Amino acid sequence: MIVADQKPLNELKSLTRGGENVLVVGCGTCVTVCFAGGAREAAITASSLRMAFKLDGNSRQVSDVTVQRQCEWEYLDQIAEQVKEADVVLSLGCGVGVQAIAEHFPETWVVPGLNTSFMGMPTEQGVWAERCAACGDCILGLTGGICPIARCSKSLLNGPCGGSEGGHCEVNPETPCAWQLIYDRLTGMGKLDVLMEIQPPKNWRAARDGGPRKIVREDLRLAKEEE
Ligand code: SF4
Ligand code: SF4
Repeated sequence: MIVADQKPLNELKSLTRGGENVLVVGCGTCVTVCFAGGAREAAITASSLRMAFKLDGNSRQVSDVTVQRQCEWEYLDQIAEQVKEADVVLSLGCGVGVQAIAEHFPETWVVPGLNTSFMGMPTEQGVWAERCAACGDCILGLTGGICPIARCSKSLLNGPCGGSEGGHCEVNPETPCAWQLIYDRLTGMGKLDVLMEIQPPKNWRAARDGGPRKIVREDLRLAKEEE
């Protein structure tokens, strides 16, 4: 899932300044699961802003609504009227959700209520950890299903570096060394020979470094045209 974190209330107040009618929009998918921007958080954020505005002595209106997914326009169509009535939309979606609203409603001023952090998963109650950096050319088949791009602090393809100590990363001793994890897993599976092959430098063209990316599925486009 995409993992995000809420911005502080003072930043939300600053981002929404100038708008008499603020609409907080939650998203029912990833950010609901990581407790950052679902219906519950949208209602709490709206209530906190109302209270903050009242304490500041102004009567700005704040309402909230949550869609199933902010990153798909068909769900945004369901709130078109509310969006049009708002002076400012405070999106509690990830960065994709914010941009989907801005793109779909070009006349609307939309601001982010979350800091989109990474793609990851919950590892224990209240803890989420990064697992994938969307490099565009997955190498998990070479590393026993543990990603060195996202989980090694140096994104090494042939690790570990010389700083791994006691199974922990030299960059942050609280972080398990990804290459130790890879080594342990391959050892346990009797597949250590996989590591004997030196990996050549990765072609990062498929990653973000090659510029904005796009996937085009001609079969789906043709199917749509034939409908
Ligand atoms: S190798 Fe790339 S695509 Fe695969 S998990 Fe790691 S970052 Fe994600
Ligand atoms: S100690 Fe391990 S995780 Fe940290 S940078 Fe070196 S190889 Fe990567």
